[in-house]
Amino acid sequence: MALVDRAGARVRANYVKSVSKRPITKHRASNDPVLKVAVAVPLSREFDYLPPKDTPAPAPGCRVEVPFGSRRQVGVVLRLAGESTLAPGKLRRASAALDAEPILAADDLRLIQFTADYYHHPVGEVVAASLPALLRQGKPLHPQVEMIAVTAAGEAFDTAVIAGRAPKQAELLEHLQDAGGNGVDASLLTELLPHWRRAVKGLLLKGLASRFEARAEDFDETLASPAEAGPTLNADQAAALDTLRATDGFGVFLIEGVTGSGKTEVYLQRMQDVIASGKQVLVLAPEIGLTPQLVTRLRSRLGIVPAVLHSGLTDNERLAAWRAARSGAARLIVGTRSAIFTPLRSPGLIIVDEEHDHSFKQQEGLRYSARDLAIVRAKQLNIPVVLGSATPTLEVLQHCHAGNYTHLHLPQRAGGAAPPTIRLIDTTRNPATEGLTEPLAAAIGRHLEAGGQALIFLNRRGFAPTLICSSCGHVAECERCDSRMTVHAGSRQLRCHHCGATRPLPSTCSECGEPVRPLGEGTERLEEALRARFAAHRIMRVDSDSTQHKGAMVAALDSATQGDADILVGTQMLSKGHHFPKLTLVGIVNADQGLFGTDFRSAERMAQSVVQVAGRAGREDRAGEVLIQTAFPEHRFWSTLIDGGYARVAAEALAEREQTRWPPFTRLALLRAAAHRRDDALDLLDTARRLLAADAGEHLRVLGPVDAPMARKAGRYRAQLLLQSSDRSRLHDALARLRPALEQSPAARKARWSIDVDPIELF
Ligand SMILES: [Zn+2]
Ligand SMILES: [Zn+2]
Repeated sequence: MALVDRAGARVRANYVKSVSKRPITKHRASNDPVLKVAVAVPLSREFDYLPPKDTPAPAPGCRVEVPFGSRRQVGVVLRLAGESTLAPGKLRRASAALDAEPILAADDLRLIQFTADYYHHPVGEVVAASLPALLRQGKPLHPQVEMIAVTAAGEAFDTAVIAGRAPKQAELLEHLQDAGGNGVDASLLTELLPHWRRAVKGLLLKGLASRFEARAEDFDETLASPAEAGPTLNADQAAALDTLRATDGFGVFLIEGVTGSGKTEVYLQRMQDVIASGKQVLVLAPEIGLTPQLVTRLRSRLGIVPAVLHSGLTDNERLAAWRAARSGAARLIVGTRSAIFTPLRSPGLIIVDEEHDHSFKQQEGLRYSARDLAIVRAKQLNIPVVLGSATPTLEVLQHCHAGNYTHLHLPQRAGGAAPPTIRLIDTTRNPATEGLTEPLAAAIGRHLEAGGQALIFLNRRGFAPTLICSSCGHVAECERCDSRMTVHAGSRQLRCHHCGATRPLPSTCSECGEPVRPLGEGTERLEEALRARFAAHRIMRVDSDSTQHKGAMVAALDSATQGDADILVGTQMLSKGHHFPKLTLVGIVNADQGLFGTDFRSAERMAQSVVQVAGRAGREDRAGEVLIQTAFPEHRFWSTLIDGGYARVAAEALAEREQTRWPPFTRLALLRAAAHRRDDALDLLDTARRLLAADAGEHLRVLGPVDAPMARKAGRYRAQLLLQSSDRSRLHDALARLRPALEQSPAARKARWSIDVDPIELF
């Protein structure tokens, strides 16, 4: 997606070549209506076409194939108009209508239009982001699939006759006989019998099997076992459920529940009502690939198979789930952020689980917040939306304080389990060796002895974050970024975590030739230290290095939740929604990274991260203990968090933001630019600053341009311009004028650029 920004100039040139300059006058175009089409190009406008020859005008929401420059593109008709801004002679016809009926309904188009307007992103790219890949490529909504079936002769055939000579044919024929006359999907056969294609030739020749095409099978949600009864709700859960049940119309509800408080159970019972009333429920979750437990639980408690939409699906699977949501065949849809755009036949409820999770914000291309769009969509559809978190974002909390959202509390762990105790370990008095202090190591031993499981959390993967020369102090740096290379001992490499560059791990300094040594700890080194100390125990590392293969993460976490590992070592990934029944100790190894962060969100993030990971400790009758290693035990953050919990950290941070005028008390937008030459990036931002001059002032502050905190990344210089306003509409009016002007600017051709509305990272 990032490449697209740069392609803007070329695409514009293409389109302009084909349609020449836009005249200001409007033209009536014969008797045909004009199709206003969204085409996936980085230009903030609709493109005008006439309907395909001898075809009735496709309705809004239908896809059309259109000539675009020298290429053909798939677009979606947004609306029909009586006239065009193009001269009649310049107006081209769409080359084909791809859908007999709209694949996107009026409500879907409304959300898409809002997204394009609010995030100041080209509508064609928003449409493209909202569609499954196959539809984006112009494939039919119901693709034809290859099927193989047994014939009448094949049905009656005794496979024993050929079993000796042609065992593969016999095996395939048995499968086909079992499947009956409707046949088997060829892709399924490939999974079952990898060499079936050779065997099928003989069967086809003998007239025992036939091959044909059929419409892709539809989703069947009834394949789950019957619904299981849930636990009895405690008083807090029951009260929250009563409040949720009081409305079917629009309302935003925050369920703030400590880990283990049973907020999922509250959603589940509300979902049951909605589904029983014939409506659909859309659940957004941070990373379904990482939280299979949620999907399993929904399935077993509701007794229906959810249509699941996440990045691990094949294109066909994704399309099938999308189609099931659109047709209403699926009543429960569970997906990651892009699922917010899934069409729903009869929507009744949206749930955003773990609303604080950063994965709801897309950080490249179309930079949107799925959580925020969930609220917009619920409002457009007049249905309720429920946000859940143990550590809600300050944005959401502030809406609760202002009375816009309903705040529901689940302060206790369901089943009455005690909250974990949190203690600090002062690393200035208890020095750490290879990341581990003696009190933490002793605690690990104690918990293992008592039959518990320990989780050691360090948000830094690799062996060591720095490779330093023992003699001259030279540090290994990335050649393409302003950053240090991370030492990876397992693969004997230096790797840049920002651009992915790698090089072999040297043993001597490139400057002076003296020996080098790794400095600091990553998860790999910590794992090694733990193995040395707890040799008799099973230790498992979970981070993106240890689980690069598809499914490896799920397998690792499955085995961790079964209790197969005694000690888990890992990054942030371990803090996301997993339930480790035997876990009694959580150790946080280097907690100080966030204490002195420069971002105004540092305290909020740090508290979220600590509370989320601490929440893993001690569930189901086992008391939990959390030990945090810090060199700054006197820091005010710790006493606030330990004495007052997340709520107090959040309250103090909100008060501070109000004073310093940061979000949620002001609105931000960030204009980023990146180019091979620093001047090109800065030129673009200077141009933007000039374009904004008329809007800038007391109500709209324009800050910069400045270099990004990491000024060079992957060989590109990066700079940014920050827009801040206490008035949302002023900010958006300014951006609405800025974007098209920038698209026309020559400076924009020399740099990649993007607008990030409500950014969550300020670099
Ligand atoms: Zn050196
Ligand atoms: Zn790099």
